Parts: sequence; C-alpha cells; structure tokens
Amino acid sequence: MAAEIIDCKAIAATIKGELTKQVAAIAEEGLTPRLAVIVAGDDAASAAYVRGKQRDSAETGIASDLWQVPGEGEPAAIEAAIRAHIERLNADPAVDGMILQLPLPEDVYEDTLIETIDPRKDVDGLHPENAGLLVQGAARYLPATPHGVQQILVRSGNDPGGKHVVIVGRSRLVGLPLANMLVQKRAGANATVTLCHTSTPDLAGYTRAADILVAAAGVPGLITADMVRPGAVVIDVGISRVDDPSRKRGYRLAGDVDFEAVAQVARAITPVPGGVGLMTRAMLLTNVVRAARQFRGR
Ligand code: NAD
Repeated sequence: MAAEIIDCKAIAATIKGELTKQVAAIAEEGLTPRLAVIVAGDDAASAAYVRGKQRDSAETGIASDLWQVPGEGEPAAIEAAIRAHIERLNADPAVDGMILQLPLPEDVYEDTLIETIDPRKDVDGLHPENAGLLVQGAARYLPATPHGVQQILVRSGNDPGGKHVVIVGRSRLVGLPLANMLVQKRAGANATVTLCHTSTPDLAGYTRAADILVAAAGVPGLITADMVRPGAVVIDVGISRVDDPSRKRGYRLAGDVDFEAVAQVARAITPVPGGVGLMTRAMLLTNVVRAARQFRGR
C-alpha cells in the first residue's frame, strides 16, 4: 500500500497563518519584528535559502534585511567583516533576530562568530548558551529544522510520544538537537530515541526498528525500502543537489530517502522538495516573533 504523503506545505501554511496573526497583534503595539540575515560569499544554495526566508518573512509581516559580505579575500578579513555586522546588529534595538547563513567561505571559522551573536537574538539557536538551554529542557529558541520535524509529526497525527524514533545524522544543526528535543518529558516529545551516524555498524538493523525514522545524513538515497519497517513514519530532512542533465538547471534536489520505493512500505512519508525545508523557514520565523515579544526593548 502506498504511504500517505504528509502535506508539509499545508502544515507550514497553517503555522505561517498563526504567525501572521501574532505579528499583526504585535504591530498594534507599534512593533514590527525584524530579522537580519548575514550572508558571506555567493553560494547558490545559500542564496536560494535566504530568498525563501525573506519571502516567508514578508508574507507574515516580519521585516527582514540582508547583509552581504564578499566571500573573496583573506579569511581573517571576511571574519572581521562578519563580526562587524554582528556587533552592529547586536546593538541595534530594532533588530530582534539574526542569522548567519551557513556554510561560510572556506577557512572562516563559524564557532567564534556564532558566539559573538547576542544569545537573545540568536534565532537559529546555535549559540552555546542556547544549545545548552535546549539540552536542559529550557530552550529559548528551538533550532528551526528539528522544530519543523517535531511539528510535522505532531500536526500530522504522528505524535512521537512513546514511540521509537531513529535519527540518522548527529549534526548539531539537525540530528543532535532533534534527539535532545524528542527524549524530553513533554508534549510532542517523550520518545525513545536512537541516534545513528557514520560509525554506526549495521545501520539497517537500527532503522528497521524505528516507528519513526528521520533521515538527516545528506546522502541521497541512503534509506532504501529494506531499511524501513512496514508501517513506519519516514521524515526526510536531506536535501542534496544531484546532477540531472534532463533538467533545465542541470540538477535536481534529492532527499536521503529512496522516495518511490520507501513509499510502498511506510505508512507516511515527507517529500523532497516540499517537505521539511518549508517547515524550517516557518519555524525560524516563530523564533523571530518570540524574540520580538520577549526581548524587544530590554
Ligand atoms: P552534516 O553533514 O553536518 O551531518 C550529517 C550527519 O549524518 C553526520 O552526523 C554524519 O555522521 C551522518 N551521516 C552521514 N553519512 C552517513 C551514513 N552513510 N550513515 C549514517 N550516518 C551518516 O549535515 P546536516 O547539516 O545535518 O544536514 C543533513 C542533510 O539535511 C543535508 O542534506 C542538508 O542539506 C539537509 N538539511 C535540510 C534542512 C531542511 O530545512 N530541510 C536543514 C538543514 C539541513
């Protein structure tokens, strides 16, 4: 039987609708939530993500500014230019949230720059203070992609509570915070979590034991049908560009899941594109609104 394709577009639209109302309510107090996006270099995929974030901001009534730093030159000079933007935006009371679009140009070290961001404006939730609060179960900002995965599960009727969730990928952007979120004793979490990675032997042995399988490895087609338990829910976070001469632009976007085959086994599945990516943008804006409400003027 073919799986239900979870309608992430509809879920993201619902969340954006909720946000639009919240932004309108805040506007009545004379305040417009404002997001600043810092981009270094001209990575095409990053530019596309940033355009999407700005489009969604505009749709929900959130102001957004793009600060572009040239990607050529000495890494130290690029780093200094980014730091100057961060410091200025930290000090600007009209800016509620900022994100430093990753990846940065080669040899520009992201950690020290992220640590420069005022944690109250760190709407990506990457600052060590925010990452630590998340682990303690007292998150200030839930990182957008894992939060998006959680919302997909909850809003599609696949609450992770009491389920075995297997996550493939332990990055600090996706897999690790998602594992931390889903093990917590709270609504929309309360799962038993297994976190798999490149040193996991017999990956399929783990993935087949999942009620909910989240693929976040960045390896196109990694999850094949034989790795999925019949009836499982499969969330595909992966987005990779795969050469495809039949397409006008020369590539297509591929997830980590062999979609056609896995859809014959799973009970529910998310597509790529049109899946988790849409949710990531919506959840980022949730954090911007939260920042405006909690910290504007403080
Ligand atoms: P990353 O490269 O930082 O981390 C990948 C993780 O997967 C690592 O922990 C690694 O151990 C694990 N991994 C890689 N190959 C594996 C394998 N063969 N078996 C088991 N584990 C393996 O990547 P990331 O930033 O976490 O992103 C992962 C994917 O998700 C990428 O395709 C990225 O483009 C995508 N992504 C999508 C969104 C979205 O909004 N949909 C957001 C962020 C990242």
